[in-house]
Amino acid sequence: MTAAKCAALAELARERQMELDGAIAAWRQGPGADVRFWCGPGCGNCCTLTVNATLPEALAIAAALDGPRQERLAATAEGIIAHARQCSDARTFLSGYRHAVGPCPFLDDDANCTIYSLRPLACRALLSTRPPDWCGVNLAGLPGYERDAFLASLDRAVVAWPTHYAAVPQELAADFERGLVFAMIRFAGFGVTGNLPLLVWLAGQPGLEGALSGSPAQFQQFLASHHADRPFLVQIDVP
Ligand code: SF4
Repeated sequence: MTAAKCAALAELARERQMELDGAIAAWRQGPGADVRFWCGPGCGNCCTLTVNATLPEALAIAAALDGPRQERLAATAEGIIAHARQCSDARTFLSGYRHAVGPCPFLDDDANCTIYSLRPLACRALLSTRPPDWCGVNLAGLPGYERDAFLASLDRAVVAWPTHYAAVPQELAADFERGLVFAMIRFAGFGVTGNLPLLVWLAGQPGLEGALSGSPAQFQQFLASHHADRPFLVQIDVP
């Protein structure tokens, strides 16, 4: 795939992100969102969770990174790959991610997102119905009675059970993500989604455009050459 097509996909991702912002804002005006949302500047607890994105979104972010953020990204990618090598499946990878990898490399020391206008659909759609501290809690590590009380306090009509994050924005984001994957299939013949920092790092590696010009198997070889070919790291969508 040519550099021009990569740039066009990145631009498409930006358009879809702004459309999602509009759709979420419209939803928040309606009766289904009559609940307090706690998200705001300086609250980065959810940015220690694993975030997935589409490759078009990663291309947009990779094109905008300066040297220091590229260095931080490379260190995080190294940590993700090292952690993945210790894990036999997605469940183990996800449960140990916070501890092994740490926060998103785009989070600054004041817990603000340094790529806020470029943050992916998944981040835009994560709206917490509980105070920020709960976004940093590992529910599996709580005593059973405390976990049960927390879960019982959630409004099942609003949240994506059993999380405390609103469901509708995530459903909207999933639709937009599918649209970006279909757009990529039209451009490249296959779609790519996966772990956000790893995808952004891969988007900046030599050989990406060539790998996107080949078959899914050739793209898989590109992933393998960067030790990023575990199925829970990057997914290739073939129509
Ligand atoms: S991209 Fe920004 S909002 Fe998303 S996890 Fe990273 S720091 Fe947080």
